[in-house]
Amino acid sequence: MLCISQLSSDSDGEPVPGSIDAVLVQTGNDGRSWTGLDSDTASAAPLAIPEAHCKKCPLLTDCFGSELSHPLWELPRISARRFRDLSAFSLEVAEVPGDGLTAAQRRNWECVVAGGPGVDGPALEAELSAIQLPVYYLDFEAGLSPKP
Ligand code: SF4
Repeated sequence: MLCISQLSSDSDGEPVPGSIDAVLVQTGNDGRSWTGLDSDTASAAPLAIPEAHCKKCPLLTDCFGSELSHPLWELPRISARRFRDLSAFSLEVAEVPGDGLTAAQRRNWECVVAGGPGVDGPALEAELSAIQLPVYYLDFEAGLSPKP
């Protein structure tokens, strides 16, 4: 029989939050087996623990509701550790501190907190000023071959 602890414990043997091991500990399952897991999951759903990997889960809104306006999962490329740190404050981007975020995450956070798009005016002006008119471009989509 496959031991569950092989699947969801960290290098110290501690259950990874949100893992099957953590569920077994929460539910008092000391058998640590698939049989025990079957009986545990046959009853009420265990407490959902938000983790970075929840982003791609189809049950995300079932677990954490659909009323979050800007959930933490919107922060680009957020690490599991950073997610855990921030989720201790809130699952709303606007309610977490902006310290320690990457540049991309910080831009996202600033836009959410400001409630609008973020535009770096000087950088945009510099980029636009570098363009020399007239400007030509090739529209590949408009140039499709009439024969497949
Ligand atoms: S969203 Fe999915 S992965 Fe996250 S706790 Fe809920 S069921 Fe588990």
